[in-house]
Amino acid sequence: MNSALGIGMTSQRTRNRMIVRLREKGITDEKVLAAMSIVPRHLFMDEAMAHRAYEDTALPIKHGQTISQPWVVAKMTEIVLQQHPKKVLEIGTGSGYQAAVLGQLVEKVFSVERIDDLTRIARRRFIKLGYMNVRTKTGDGFKGWQSEAPYDVIIATAAPEEVPENLLKQLRISGVMILPLGDSKRQNLVKITKTDNGYITDQLDAVMFVPFLHGVVRG
Ligand code: SAH
Repeated sequence: MNSALGIGMTSQRTRNRMIVRLREKGITDEKVLAAMSIVPRHLFMDEAMAHRAYEDTALPIKHGQTISQPWVVAKMTEIVLQQHPKKVLEIGTGSGYQAAVLGQLVEKVFSVERIDDLTRIARRRFIKLGYMNVRTKTGDGFKGWQSEAPYDVIIATAAPEEVPENLLKQLRISGVMILPLGDSKRQNLVKITKTDNGYITDQLDAVMFVPFLHGVVRG
């Protein structure tokens, strides 16, 4: 860590203050809070941003993308854990932070990112921090990760305007997909449960994510 930033900005004590704020904002799952008190969010961004790592806000990463706001990560992870999943697919690896939080709590995490440079950086972080149960690949999230399907839970951390139907096929029966749905003005977190005879949709909190886009970006 650059000493000019002050070690205090990235210490366990700073991280614990973030946990206190998450509790104040209604996060109650102790497993989620424990996981987020362990994962070093400041290592999932450029050093220049690291002094803000434990503020409850989304922050810019490379390629015009963002690392999600801690409260949103906590909220989505709480919903994921309600399923007691063994295998989770994330669409939108980005910094890798959400995948790492899941990696603390779930046996196997698969994560797809469309921007190859981000995939590579995130993969290096998973290896360095010892998340051997988190795998990532570059691909178009609309296609999911077919060879590892079915999943207990699929989460998207980028917002499509319509539900990507193809992803629902990669869920097991009684599995759930959690995703922000909407455009750049208005989005809602939505939970879709796959049943024997169709899908049940629950509308959750208002959120704001970067858009879910088609195609892969290399180089
Ligand atoms: N979970 C991330 C959030 C990153 S922002 C984190 O914790 O940091 C969302 C990411 O979704 C961006 O990196 C963006 O490139 C990616 N994305 C958008 N559309 C995608 C698609 N179709 N397939 C895969 N990734 C996508």
